[in-house]
Amino acid sequence: MNRWRIPPELELQIRDRDVKCVYCGVKLLESVPRGTSRKNVATWEHIVNDASIISFENIARCCNSCNASKGSKDLRKWLDSDYCRRNRITKDSVAFVVQCHLSATMDQPDVWELTENAIPWQRNAIQRICRTEQP
Ligand SMILES: [Zn+2]
Repeated sequence: MNRWRIPPELELQIRDRDVKCVYCGVKLLESVPRGTSRKNVATWEHIVNDASIISFENIARCCNSCNASKGSKDLRKWLDSDYCRRNRITKDSVAFVVQCHLSATMDQPDVWELTENAIPWQRNAIQRICRTEQP
């Protein structure tokens, strides 16, 4: 168990899925030499900002810069920020796992559009996110 209380098996699955930052798409680095920029170093991120939701669908890896900018902001509000505009991060450019969250929390979810081309884990993610976040 690491310090985010992510079970080791889940941690491996997420590391495998998120080789790039789920927000800006930069290739994640595990570590950098002392004294160099840490902005592309991988960090753990709760997409829905609730540390108690420990699941394949809610935990992701993103770069230090995105994590620092997002902080505890709501995903949708953050996507509207200057940081995202500057870095061309939009609801269409983010990783699939993040798009699932956006679809599931929209007034008129276009989840089924996403589902059409989804591979099995993605279908699962969509279903689980929809179940937990829709009334
Ligand atoms: Zn990033």
